[in-house]
Amino acid sequence: MNGTGLREIPQGQRETDGSGTMEKMCCYDLHSHSSASDGTLDPASLVEKAHAAGVAVLALTDHDTLDGLAEAAQAVLGLDLSLIPGVEISVTWQAMTIHVLGLNVEPDNQVLSDGLQELQKVRDWRAGEIGRKLADKGIAAALEGAGRFRKGKILSRTHFAHFLVEAGYAASVRDVFKRFLVKGKPGYVRSEWVSMQRALGWIRQAGGLPVIAHPARYRLTRSKLKRLVGEFREAGGVGLEVVSGSHSRDETLHMAAVCREHRLFASCGSDYHGPEKPWVELGRLRRLPDGCIPIWEADSWPPTLAV
Ligand code: AMP
Ligand code: MN
Ligand code: MN
Ligand code: MN
Repeated sequence: MNGTGLREIPQGQRETDGSGTMEKMCCYDLHSHSSASDGTLDPASLVEKAHAAGVAVLALTDHDTLDGLAEAAQAVLGLDLSLIPGVEISVTWQAMTIHVLGLNVEPDNQVLSDGLQELQKVRDWRAGEIGRKLADKGIAAALEGAGRFRKGKILSRTHFAHFLVEAGYAASVRDVFKRFLVKGKPGYVRSEWVSMQRALGWIRQAGGLPVIAHPARYRLTRSKLKRLVGEFREAGGVGLEVVSGSHSRDETLHMAAVCREHRLFASCGSDYHGPEKPWVELGRLRRLPDGCIPIWEADSWPPTLAV
């Protein structure tokens, strides 16, 4: 411990505080991506890498698709690793994009798949618009270029970023986002995803637990965060991703306090997208701060390996 109530858990290292709590927490990674959306590893390679990193419970949570789940489920057979089928849904709330994880969803649920199909259409429309906007700035054939990096159905800004880096418009993916793909930049297109109520309806219908992903990333004021959490709870939301690969130590502590105040379960996930920068490694996560109730203690959490 270092006085903040948090401790860094190095990749694959199992720690224990005598009660076994530490060891348990470092082995859950409940947010990751495969090449079915904008990750670079195929689902089987992702599973192998998670296993090698010491993760015992892994959620595959691709953006707006369930397509990677069957391959991941095959890949865990025979490994001492439990797979939580998941998804990360793009939601529009108060004209902002908020990501909501559905953990432990049925991979073949019709309501959820139909809903996600709508989002894939929005993505295809947006990709065309991004291509047009970039063409206006003299960057030709970006849609086709981004398409070459896509391995599944989902077309994401990440694929455009890979194309723009390859074509020499920027030095890194991070750089490309800053210069081209965020609000106010030439390749940014605002899109209308799905409402919070509908997204949570799909997740609940599929038997899943809705969790707000990386809540500190939205840079919300205190009152707006309160409102988001209130509406999320009212719509059936149950969890907040307190520990995230994109949260600082202070953000983690802040979200832990929000979680306790609003009686939400706490989740933890790396948001791994592949071995390239800037992503953190699988399972390389801080432990949940004291007083948070882990989402794996929810009644409907499935039986997973004893970790
Ligand atoms: P999309 O859902 O298609 O709008 O793309 C959002 C994805 O872009 C996120 O899930 C991240 O994977 C990636 N992303 C967003 N911002 C950045 C950034 N600054 N650097 C690298 N990747 C980013
Ligand atoms: Mn992503
Ligand atoms: Mn996200
Ligand atoms: Mn993610």
